Amino acid sequence: MKNLFGLTLQELELELADLPKFRAKQIAAWLYQRGARSFDAMTDLSKNLRADLNERYEISTPQVIAQLDSDDGLTTKFLLQFADGAAVETVLMRHDYGNSVCISTQVGCQMGCKFCASTLNGLDRNLTAGEMLSEIIFVNDFLRAENKKVDTLVVMGTGEPLTNFDHLLKMLKLLHESYTLGLSYRKVTVSTCGIVPAIYRLIDEKIPVTLSISLHAPDNKLRSELMPINAAFELDEVLGAGNDYAQATGRRVTYEYILIGGVNDTEEHARQLAKILAGQLCNVNLIPINPVDERNFSRPSHNAVQKFFHFLDTHNINVTVRKEFGAGIDAACGQLRNRKIFK
Ligand code: SF4
Repeated sequence: MKNLFGLTLQELELELADLPKFRAKQIAAWLYQRGARSFDAMTDLSKNLRADLNERYEISTPQVIAQLDSDDGLTTKFLLQFADGAAVETVLMRHDYGNSVCISTQVGCQMGCKFCASTLNGLDRNLTAGEMLSEIIFVNDFLRAENKKVDTLVVMGTGEPLTNFDHLLKMLKLLHESYTLGLSYRKVTVSTCGIVPAIYRLIDEKIPVTLSISLHAPDNKLRSELMPINAAFELDEVLGAGNDYAQATGRRVTYEYILIGGVNDTEEHARQLAKILAGQLCNVNLIPINPVDERNFSRPSHNAVQKFFHFLDTHNINVTVRKEFGAGIDAACGQLRNRKIFK
């Protein structure tokens, strides 16, 4: 049976062309704003219509198979499972400026970054636009019980979003619609490990989300060791695309830099980083690594983080250190899924 969840209003109107148009609007509101997960819950539709919809369609959304809450109550990580058994992590972070949801875009990942748990078992499949949307709507429904909602979206969970471009784009447009969450593109951050042609596609689409590029090393040799994608798109190309994105959108690009003890956290690395980013409209977000059991990396010392930060800060680079969220709840992306699905 065809799943109605994930269709745009226009697609719903086409699908339900035998009904008056306002029915599609009602159904969209039930699906995306009112938390209905069955046609029977759509109480302003006639009994006959609900029975008819039940015969022709389904509403397929993921089930929660694990939930972990951080001790401070600020972070909740969900493991959501789709009808085919594929499971992804979705994270709710309660900031003082609002509630943020971090979604996955693929089941597993093929990018092979050396510090990442999500790629250990490779890529299973892409998520559809509807599946990505269902992660966000799930968290929004969850928050409704607290009289709250999703305020910002970060597309930074498992997967490389820009290799699932068409579905990502459809999801972002859908999320922007008034019949879903009506989320402004300015409240959305999309992360990439540096798929250069797709960054230019995003520029062409004129969807002014914040772009976040994973850099993690200030030279090609080290970056290639940490991120195999660097063999396809080297640093100067990635930085060129980042700069073009910032110029085209007027929005600062965020460069993510995971600090790994003894690997990329010295003052010399900071010096090189400041040099290659000089003059760019950007922020650097330093992320002391969450060690992954299966990987042999350790956290940088507090002193090394402070020194790295200070060097960039005093060399005209906008820099922040990522606030630690969810320590102790399998916080690094992919860890909860690995523990539940692969062990
Ligand atoms: S860091 Fe992101 S792109 Fe790299 S392997 Fe992990 S999920 Fe994939």
